Amino acid sequence: MANTIKAYGVAGPNEKLQPLTIERRAPDDDDVVIDIKYTGICHSDIHTVNGEWGRALTYPVVTGHEIAGLVRSVGKNVTKFKVGDRVGVGCLVNSCRLCDGCKEGEEQFCTGHGDMPGHVSTYGGKDPKENLKLTAGGYSQMIVVDKDFVLRIPDSIPLDRAAPLLCAGITTYSPLRHWKAGPGKSVAIIGLGGLGHVAVKIAKALGCEVTVLSQSLSKKELGLQLGADKYFATSDAETFTALKGHFDLIINTVSANLNLNQYMSLLRRDGSFVEIGAPEHPMTLHAFNVIIGRRSLAGSCIGGIRETQEMLDFCAKHDIAADVEIIPASQINEAWERVIKSDVRFRFVIDISTL
Ligand code: NAP
Ligand code: ZN
Ligand code: ZN
Repeated sequence: MANTIKAYGVAGPNEKLQPLTIERRAPDDDDVVIDIKYTGICHSDIHTVNGEWGRALTYPVVTGHEIAGLVRSVGKNVTKFKVGDRVGVGCLVNSCRLCDGCKEGEEQFCTGHGDMPGHVSTYGGKDPKENLKLTAGGYSQMIVVDKDFVLRIPDSIPLDRAAPLLCAGITTYSPLRHWKAGPGKSVAIIGLGGLGHVAVKIAKALGCEVTVLSQSLSKKELGLQLGADKYFATSDAETFTALKGHFDLIINTVSANLNLNQYMSLLRRDGSFVEIGAPEHPMTLHAFNVIIGRRSLAGSCIGGIRETQEMLDFCAKHDIAADVEIIPASQINEAWERVIKSDVRFRFVIDISTL
């Protein structure tokens, strides 16, 4: 039987977020039904609803892909989870399982097969399990998710501080691992927001020298407490002189456009600049900024399910969790405004019991 539940979302164009009711599908034998306790607010939620990624929206839109909760029930094919387990759901809720990406555990790069168009996003995705109806995310009381896309949250991480790891955690862990961040490597994190602050913690735990590049020095004390070794303001032109040729790896988490040419000069020979921020507008690069020094400009997209579980276990082992401000549902609109102004320390998390 399908379930009608409370959610918070956008009912139509140019509207604010408001209380809504939505239907969840009747669970099948492979599904896990999750009572959501906490959901993080990712800047991607805001880009999506504001139409900044150029996709036409189908209303209502219910965002949220940093979900932590407890298992309410499981289908008869589910052996990995039982009622009461602490679980999470990130940006993915399904994929074809047959393409190269899926077979290699990189479901975020699923190219699709049969009636599966590609990976299914937690919100705004088309899931054959829902007759290709658009998925609704975690600003809601409950979610039904295929067992293969449910993550186990280690006991030592509180659910509210675990929720942001499901997107901010994996999106920063994956490129840090892929580009082999570790002892002896100098890593810069641009932007100390939701993704950036988790990136600092993970990079430090991996043994790198970590530098934060923020717009100002206003969060310097906090950044150093998070584990950064150095902290510079990008509004100060002197920063780009002092750090010229310094980094092996730069991870850019900024949600707006940056002058890439200026930042490429901070890389050492063979260094990599990895874009994970997803701003609305294109950025330009002068060819000589990659030719000189054989530098790379790359991007990275969330991470697969296997790596997400690895990240959660890594965070538990290294005592890492997100620093969060818990808010009731009634403050979501205000929280979004504050995220846009970079006024968050460091992730807003919605207490779903207030829906
Ligand atoms: P966030 O909490 O808003 O953090 C972004 C940070 O960027 C801000 O805290 C601020 O840091 C800096 N910033 C903002 N506006 C800026 C500007 N105009 N100039 C320079 N710096 C600016 O956002 P988030 O949730 O971490 O997400 C960051 C970006 O990653 C978003 O674009 C999001 O859509 C994207 N994202 C991508 C993936 C992926 O798979 N690639 C996954 C998740 C999110 P300071 O105050 O320190 O300067
Ligand atoms: Zn996200
Ligand atoms: Zn696939």
